[in-house]
Amino acid sequence: MYALYRAVAMVKASREKVVNILSDSRSSLELLSNPRTGHPLAHAIRKVQETLTLKEKKSADADYDYEKIPLSWINKIREETILKWQTRYDSSQTGAITKTFFPDAKKAYATIRKLKPTPVQTQIFTGHTGIAEYLHRFKLLQSPSCECDADKIESVWHIILNAPGMKLHATISNTKSRQS
Ligand SMILES: [Zn+2]
Repeated sequence: MYALYRAVAMVKASREKVVNILSDSRSSLELLSNPRTGHPLAHAIRKVQETLTLKEKKSADADYDYEKIPLSWINKIREETILKWQTRYDSSQTGAITKTFFPDAKKAYATIRKLKPTPVQTQIFTGHTGIAEYLHRFKLLQSPSCECDADKIESVWHIILNAPGMKLHATISNTKSRQS
C-alpha cells in the first residue's frame, strides 16, 4: 500500500500525461476500490487522485481502474518469477540444506505459505542454527563434530536422525547457551 502511495505521489510530481501503475497486491487494490475504507493510506492516495482529477478535468477524463489487469496475468507473472527463482535456486552454491528439504522452488513456495514455519523449523530447514557444523563453518567452533561421537559431524541430519530429543542434540532450541 505504501508503495502505491509513493507511486501516486511520483505521478503527481511528474509531467507525464498518461501513467500506468501496476500492482499485484490484491488486498491494496481491494482497499482502494472500496469507497468506505478507513485505511489512511487509501485516503491519502484518493486525495492525490482527486487533485489530479481537478487538474485534468478539462483536458481528459481521469480514469482509475483497479481491475484492469486480469488476475490470470498476475498469476502468469508469479509463475514466471517462480521459474526464474527455480533456475537461480538450482545453479546457486548456497542453501544446500534447504535444497534437500525443498528441491523444488515452486512446491517450496506453496508449502511454506501453508506451513508458516516456526523459528525452530526455519533454523532446521536452512541449517542456520547453533549446531556444530554451522558454527564451525563460520569459525565460531573449533570442531564440527557432535558431543555424542567425535567421529560424527553435528549436522541437521545428524540431529534429526539421532534422537532430536536427546539432551546433547537439543542445540537447535538452545543456541544461546551453546554459544556462550
Ligand atoms: Zn550427536
